[in-house]
Amino acid sequence: MGGSTWTAEEKSENYTYTGTVTPIEYTIKINEGKASIGAGTEITKAKVNDVITITANVAAEGKEFTGWTVVSGNITLAGASKETTTFTMPGEAVEITATYKDKPVTPPHEHDFSGSWQRDDAAHWHKCPDDEATDTKAAHEYDDEADTTCNVCGYERTVTPPAPVAYTITKGNGQTVTKGNTANFVSNAPFEKFDKVQVDGVDVATSNYTVISGSTDVTFTADYINGLSEGSHTIAIVSNDGQATGSFIVKAATGNTESSKPGGNTNPSDGNKVSSTGGNTTSPQTGDNSNIALWGVLMMLSASGIAFTVYSRKRKLAKKLTTLIQWMG
Ligand SMILES: [Zn+2]
Ligand SMILES: [Zn+2]
Repeated sequence: MGGSTWTAEEKSENYTYTGTVTPIEYTIKINEGKASIGAGTEITKAKVNDVITITANVAAEGKEFTGWTVVSGNITLAGASKETTTFTMPGEAVEITATYKDKPVTPPHEHDFSGSWQRDDAAHWHKCPDDEATDTKAAHEYDDEADTTCNVCGYERTVTPPAPVAYTITKGNGQTVTKGNTANFVSNAPFEKFDKVQVDGVDVATSNYTVISGSTDVTFTADYINGLSEGSHTIAIVSNDGQATGSFIVKAATGNTESSKPGGNTNPSDGNKVSSTGGNTTSPQTGDNSNIALWGVLMMLSASGIAFTVYSRKRKLAKKLTTLIQWMG
């Protein structure tokens, strides 16, 4: 196991020995790394007392160097935990292993969107406190155009209500109505938008007027007109988006109410309603009573199985009844 080579040459009695002594080199095995002299090329063997530099391989993905483990050889590493270190070659083979471990797993950052709402005029969102990340920006949600508070984040917006529409009283404005008469006013507002009627700034109970479409057609009852003071009054036909205003004059009834024509009333039929209303207290009742009598007879006839026809007109019914009575008699 010599590292030296010798040659012998026979010279009569004398022997002259010439040669070179080759120092013994011992094996170096580096697992997961390499050995060199200084910064030189990789070596796999070295002589006693050579200072050997060992360098660990770059750690694989997810791993990190933890230190050197001496497998064999009586050596002392200058820095057993350093990726590059040195030792002095002993008179025997050396085997050293670089060791690694899994890098501690750092959980990926998860954005925290649990904080308070971030807002601008149009949208709301959350911002991660650890960085500039935001979740999805979403538009504020309102119930309708008038709603000022976002249902999701509570953002308060300013809503400028649309300017009220100035409607016009197209019929009945300025009229003089005599107590005991109805009074008709028409606003050009769409009927669907009708809200209420005000007289002298006070809401009028719905029982005091009728309102029909075309556009918005309001008729005060005679009772209501009766209750108003004589003189000038204002009227406002109020719609959801505006109103029509006007005025009218209430005049005391003079003499025969039924024959008086309300001055300024643009709807002549209104005046006629008074007399027809007054007449309703007597004659129609008579008719009702006779109807009951007719119905009694007809019920009898029906019970006896005789077919009959009911006419809608009282006159015809009466005539029919007469005929039936004659037939029965
Ligand atoms: Zn984040
Ligand atoms: Zn919002």
